[in-house]
Amino acid sequence: MAETIYHHYEQLLGLTVPWQVSCVDLDHAAKQVTVRVTWPADTPVPCPVCARECVVASHREQRSWRHLDTMQFSTILQCRVPRARCHTHGVKTIQTPWASPNSRFTLFFESFAIDVIQTAAHLTAACTLLRISWDQAFRLMDRAVERGVARRQFTSPLQHVGVDEKSFGKGQSYGSLLTDLDGQRVLDVVQGRKRVNADELWATLPAAQRAVLTAVALDMWEPFMAATQAAAPQADQVHDKFHVTSYLTKAVDLVRRSEAKRLRLDGNPLLTNTKYLWLRNPTNWSDDERTQFRSLKTEALKTARAWAVKEAFTQFWGYRSLTWARKFFTRWYFWATHTRLAPIVSAAKTLKRHLTGILAYVTHRITNAVTEGLNSKIQTLKVNARGFRNFAHYRTTILFHCGKLELHP
Ligand SMILES: [Zn+2]
Repeated sequence: MAETIYHHYEQLLGLTVPWQVSCVDLDHAAKQVTVRVTWPADTPVPCPVCARECVVASHREQRSWRHLDTMQFSTILQCRVPRARCHTHGVKTIQTPWASPNSRFTLFFESFAIDVIQTAAHLTAACTLLRISWDQAFRLMDRAVERGVARRQFTSPLQHVGVDEKSFGKGQSYGSLLTDLDGQRVLDVVQGRKRVNADELWATLPAAQRAVLTAVALDMWEPFMAATQAAAPQADQVHDKFHVTSYLTKAVDLVRRSEAKRLRLDGNPLLTNTKYLWLRNPTNWSDDERTQFRSLKTEALKTARAWAVKEAFTQFWGYRSLTWARKFFTRWYFWATHTRLAPIVSAAKTLKRHLTGILAYVTHRITNAVTEGLNSKIQTLKVNARGFRNFAHYRTTILFHCGKLELHP
């Protein structure tokens, strides 16, 4: 009878000869099954380095691994792992087939835990279901991510990637993200958004992959641009519409703020509480906002002029011809720089300085907003984690959920 149960557990654990189950202990009170696994005495052991058959030098102290539950009983695998005495490599502990080194879980358990963590709404919920601690979950996810990154193959060469900054945790802590725009996956994340961080980010991508990139979407942010130029000099740098629009939107808001302040001092509340009217896309205006805007438009406000300049620029993104796009820009630039609105003039000059990258959009039509789905996923992960305790947790979480990695052992 015992023999049958041992054999049964050997199969459940996926043990390979000559590993064998030598004891199964059922503790009803603790709701726990303990399965002892041994390597038969007098059987040579393979050196973990060269695989040569060696004599058993000694045994490690007893260790435990958590396995998948048996009928709601926690199932623990125990073993005193033998050490091999190799003539070349000395005394080495042999590799067990049921767990990765330094893991306290069997591969079966890790694999199941990965599925649970991937589908659970919160990591806390997954931890409760699996009866593991938050730290254990992170170590497990870490191993899964490292495994996935090491295995990642670029079967079709990368073409378009995006480099973007993201805040993580609380306050102004930033990370830099590299995303595969076609594959809709995060390739890597590093802490910080300075030149050295951007270099570090690029270094995570194999040189062969960097060399075949055709275009990179990024903000008009010098450290990112310089690092990209160094890492993938053949790739066109594309400043996408969302970054450009945010510069113009900021300029409109600066105009509104100073004008509203001046009007308020004159006792005129005209611009009070209109901030979002000028920031929001007109297609999203409510009926009230539309009416409000119509009455404001006739007031010869500086804010209205700034807004018109910003809105006019949206036409640029529709061009398919470089010649026409360039002509449009020249006209728009003339208008913007003659508004006598300092923030608008300054934003227009910034755009002009980066015209090559803005025009590159017409050719490549890529934008970091393709990853908007990813962005909202990352945002959700951040909210669920209530900010990340440290950057390593942030990277692990993002790559675990948004890296499209093969995570299972
Ligand atoms: Zn050896």
